[in-house]
Amino acid sequence: MRDEILAHAKRIVVKIGSSLIASRATGLRPEQIERLADEIAVLRASGRDVLVVSSGAIVSGIKKLQLKEYPKSLPVKQAAAAVGQSRLMWAYEKAFERLGVQVAQVLLTHQDLADRRRFLNARYTLTALIGFGVLPIINENDTVAVEEIRVGDNDTLASEVAHLVDADLLVILSDVDGLYTEDPRKNPAASLIPLIPEITEEIERRAGVSSTFEGTGGMATKVRAAKKVGEYGVSTLIINGERAGLLPSVLAGEPGGSLFLARERRLTSRKHWIAFTLRPRGHVRLDQGAVEALTMRGKSLLASGIVDVTGEFEAGDPVGCLDNDGKEFAKGLVNFSSVLLKQMKGLKTQDIHRQIGPQEYEEVIHRDNLVIL
Ligand code: GLU
Repeated sequence: MRDEILAHAKRIVVKIGSSLIASRATGLRPEQIERLADEIAVLRASGRDVLVVSSGAIVSGIKKLQLKEYPKSLPVKQAAAAVGQSRLMWAYEKAFERLGVQVAQVLLTHQDLADRRRFLNARYTLTALIGFGVLPIINENDTVAVEEIRVGDNDTLASEVAHLVDADLLVILSDVDGLYTEDPRKNPAASLIPLIPEITEEIERRAGVSSTFEGTGGMATKVRAAKKVGEYGVSTLIINGERAGLLPSVLAGEPGGSLFLARERRLTSRKHWIAFTLRPRGHVRLDQGAVEALTMRGKSLLASGIVDVTGEFEAGDPVGCLDNDGKEFAKGLVNFSSVLLKQMKGLKTQDIHRQIGPQEYEEVIHRDNLVIL
């Protein structure tokens, strides 16, 4: 279960807490930012879309403004955030430039997420950035966010971003290993819980008492964030971001951290509509490779994997996907008519181009329009 979720997570929001990349005494820790950038680049290289939610603006600003203590007044906090945010982005710019990855700063307030139009607008912008291969680095717009419009902490912000971009997984990089059966400082026999199938009251209580951490959040807000995003069908992984190499290795299936399972399988309202409201106008039968690409690797359907086309349909119509045994295992909106698809089936993109001519789409069914049943 755990391996499957981690292996299939295509779009991932990674939350990086202040304490991982900055300290009040020394300001930002560029070597840590570089290491995390290296690890995020590994995830990207394995075909995953990554978005980062990073704290650290205020702590970095405190150092830059040479403040003696964490500011209590809002204007001073906001001034520190303004000074620190540009420094934070500069550190990320440099760290990712080494790797040939372009980054973009995105600052959000709660208002941007609570208003449907702005929410959708933010979604389109982030999607466009991902489309360009750019890595969005998101923080709260602390400089303008007065109390009423604040998200407040970046664990919550990250969970809202995960919903915003329809992520498959939220990863919270913490300074602890994950959720333990008991407080490990008090009981050395306490063990790390690798999989939390359901966030019960008991789990929330445990997270509340084991809150021993730096930063705004603590374990309680992390578990609350996991619960919230779990309602949208997004699972949350909490791992220790201080441990070098852990992020890519855990996502590759190695042990580490705690995975909080999403409550139910995710279906957006649109996918729900595709899966349950629409009736297929025809069917495509797929070879084993295509069945696996769709079900195990979250890929779009290409013509090369189609063995047979039945029924009559137009581009945009709902079509069922059959496996070798004729079982309908997926449904989606098709980009080509049945007439064209009968000519295209089994062909690779270059051959379609050569034999039939250039087509507007490469995918027969794009994964955004595809639901595995
Ligand atoms: N947005 C704040 C910052 O960048 C941090 C909030 C948090 O750590 O939860 O400093």
